[in-house]
This record gives sequence, structure tokens and C-alpha cells, in this order.
Amino acid sequence: MDYDVIVVGAGPVGSTFARNIAKKGFKVLILEKKIQIGQPLQCAGLLGTSIRKINDLPKHVIINEVFGANIYSPSSNRLYVNKNEPHAYVIDRIKYDDYLSKEAINAGADILFKHNVMNVDSKRGIVTFKNSGGINQLSARIIIGADGPNSIVSKSINSSAEHMKAAQYLIKLNDAINTDNVNLYLNNYLAPGFKWFIPIDNHHMRFGVFGNYDYKTLTNQLNNLLKIKKEYNPVILEKYYGKIPIFSPNKKIYENRVLLLGDAASQTKPTTGGGLVLAFNCSKIAVGIVERNLEQKNNINLKDYQSLYKKFFFNELKVQKKISNIFASLTDSDLDNLFIKLNEKNVEKIISDIGDIDSQSFLLKELFKTGVLFDILPNIGRGVFQFKNFL
Ligand SMILES: Cc1cc2nc3c(=O)[nH]c(=O)nc-3n(C[C@H](O)[C@H](O)[C@H](O)COP(=O)(O)OP(=O)(O)OC[C@H]3O[C@@H](n4cnc5c(N)ncnc54)[C@H](O)[C@@H]3O)c2cc1C
Repeated sequence: MDYDVIVVGAGPVGSTFARNIAKKGFKVLILEKKIQIGQPLQCAGLLGTSIRKINDLPKHVIINEVFGANIYSPSSNRLYVNKNEPHAYVIDRIKYDDYLSKEAINAGADILFKHNVMNVDSKRGIVTFKNSGGINQLSARIIIGADGPNSIVSKSINSSAEHMKAAQYLIKLNDAINTDNVNLYLNNYLAPGFKWFIPIDNHHMRFGVFGNYDYKTLTNQLNNLLKIKKEYNPVILEKYYGKIPIFSPNKKIYENRVLLLGDAASQTKPTTGGGLVLAFNCSKIAVGIVERNLEQKNNINLKDYQSLYKKFFFNELKVQKKISNIFASLTDSDLDNLFIKLNEKNVEKIISDIGDIDSQSFLLKELFKTGVLFDILPNIGRGVFQFKNFL
């Protein structure tokens, strides 16, 4: 075999995995189809502060720190949740991807740019790719598919995936804005997706949307909200588009010598579509399993990766999936009424105290304990009872 591990994709997840497995002394190669990692931007760059527990986040990639969120119902009823300390970072994803790929190289991994992987043979551990020299092959004992939402590696092992789409503008505003809070806009049409304003600095924000629609429809959604906000004189500086894989408990994430990570494995949060914190956690599990397999001479068996992923994350992900299904089933007037009730019951305070951008099952458990959930959601009563199985 040419390498112990070949990682397909030098995105944040592939580079993080490559760095951590190279640090163990294994011979690692990353194949990346682009020449410039991270471009074009396909991320809102909002990361819960828990990111620091699982991966490096150098200061130079943090653009802003966010303390809270204004969440708006279709008729603009507002829920305001906030903390005394930063709850999330707004990052420069292009710089972050670049930083992580350099970390992988510093740890001893090789990286080849402009190498477009076309197919993977999971039994024999062979990667077929195209570069300036034509079509070539390399082999490895284990191959990691970290090649994002359109993963070729995932297709090579016949692992299916569903996606939502996202559109985002970088906006410049004349008047200074508050940089402490993100704004989220919910409605039945977009649900389980939504629109967001994420402040970068006093005069710039990322304004985006995701949902089960094509890019044109999503762009219209953005333009409509911008028209309503025209008093801010928004100027669109850049436009970005991308896919968000939908988490499925049935997604195949390994086969023979191949293991999928990150968007390639549909490792995204059902409620927000965010992927990085979950994928970095899964990458940590994967490093342990891959290390164990490489150390022994026996056949490669990656089954434990799936078992540990299930054990540590499926409860949370299934709760989130249920939340997003219930959200999608609510009409605009349900949502408006829900927000009124949430305010009446002072749920803002409970969410402010214990809410977490990356994990919602704990919050739901507390809402159950206080009985608040039964008071605020009479019109989705059956849905609420279904949660009990998970909590
Ligand atoms: C608009 C938008 C906003 C988002 N906002 C957030 C957010 O705020 N917070 C959050 O946590 N997540 C967010 N996400 C999700 C997040 O961007 C992804 O979960 C994350 O990028 C996944 O990282 P990855 O390394 O798995 O894949 P990617 O970042 O997609 O990287 C994959 C890499 O593989 C390379 N590659 C692909 N195919 C091949 C091939 N055939 N051969 C070789 N190389 C290949 C690509 O060039 C790329 O470098 C957002 C997504 C979108 C679309």
C-alpha cells in the first residue's frame, strides 16, 4: 500500500482528521481537488463556543463573538435569548480551513492540490483521481471520505444522501448595527429551514437562508426580506450558495476500508444545518478506530465507528430531527401563537440560562420537568409525547 491513510478532501473535517492521525505517526496523504481551500465560501461561520473543547480555534480566525439571538415568528413576535458571556463565534471560514490544512501538513501529512478523486474501491483501498498528468491511482489501508456534501467517496460505496440548499449574501450597511446578537426569522414556508442575519462587524453581516427549495427560490426569499429592511440601505457585496446534507440515522458511513466523515457522512444538526462541531466530534471517534485498525495486522473492521457515533450522538440528533419535523408541521399562525406563549411563560429566561446552540435535548428535558412544554404546545400535543421516548 502507498499510504496508511488517504483522506479525500482538505475541508475543515478532512484536515482535522489528517492532522490527528498523522500525529500518531501514520503515513497520511490528503487529496484535494481545489487549488485554494475553502473557496468559494459555503458557510455562515457560526460556531458554538463548545468548539474549543474539540478543536483548535486560533484567535485570528474569530471575527466576532455573539452573546444571544433574536428569534422572530412570521408576524415578528420576538423571542430574545442571551447569555452574559459569548455563546458563539463568527469565524472566517476560509482562514480557518487554511489554518487546519497547514496544521495537518505540520503534523506530517502530505497534501496534493488539484487532485480530483473520481472513484474509490473500498475493498482494495484504491483511490482513482484525475490531475494534470491524467488519471492515476494510489492505495491506502484506510480511505477517509471527507469530500463534502457532494461526496464522490460516499457515492462510491452506494451511500445515499438527501440535501437542503442554502443561499447567503455578504451585506454592507451604512448605519452601524449591534454585533452582539444574531437574528433568526422563522416561517412555515421555509421550515425546517429559516433565514439568518449574522453580524460580522458594525457595518457587515452575513444574511442567509436554508430550506427545501432551489437556489432561485431561496434567493427570492433573501431579496424579499432585504426589501423590507431597505431603511438600512443594504448593499450586497458577495453571494454564496451551497448544499446542506440532511442527517439520517440510516446513512451508511463506512464500508470495508472506507470511512465517511463530516458532510460526506451527513453529519449535520437537524435543527440548524450546522456541521462543524458534530463532525469534529465524529472525527475524534474515527481517529481512535482508525488507529486501532492500523496498529493490528488483521483485516480492517470499521464497524465500531458507526456504533460509537450512534452511542454518543444519535439521541441528540433524533431529538433535533423531531424538533425540526414539528417545526415544519406548524402553520404561521401556530408559530405566532407559540411565540406569544413562550413569552408569557418566560421561556426566554430558561433558554437563556441553559440553551445550547449544539445540543437541545437537555433544554427539552428541563422544559418537560417544569411542565412548560405541555402549556405552550397544546396544538402539537402528540408530537410532544413522542419526545418522551428520547429524553
Ligand atoms: C450556506 C451555508 C452555511 C453554513 N453555516 C454553518 C455554520 O454557521 N456553522 C456550521 O457549523 N456549519 C455551517 N454550515 C455547514 C458547514 O459548512 C459544513 O458542515 C462543513 O463545511 C463540512 O465540512 P467538510 O470538511 O465535511 O466538507 P467541506 O467543507 O465541503 O470540504 C470538503 C472538501 O473536499 C474537497 N473535495 C470535494 N470533492 C472532492 C473530490 N472529488 N476530490 C478531492 N477533493 C474533493 C472540496 O474541495 C473541499 O475542500 C453551512 C453550510 C452552508 C452551505
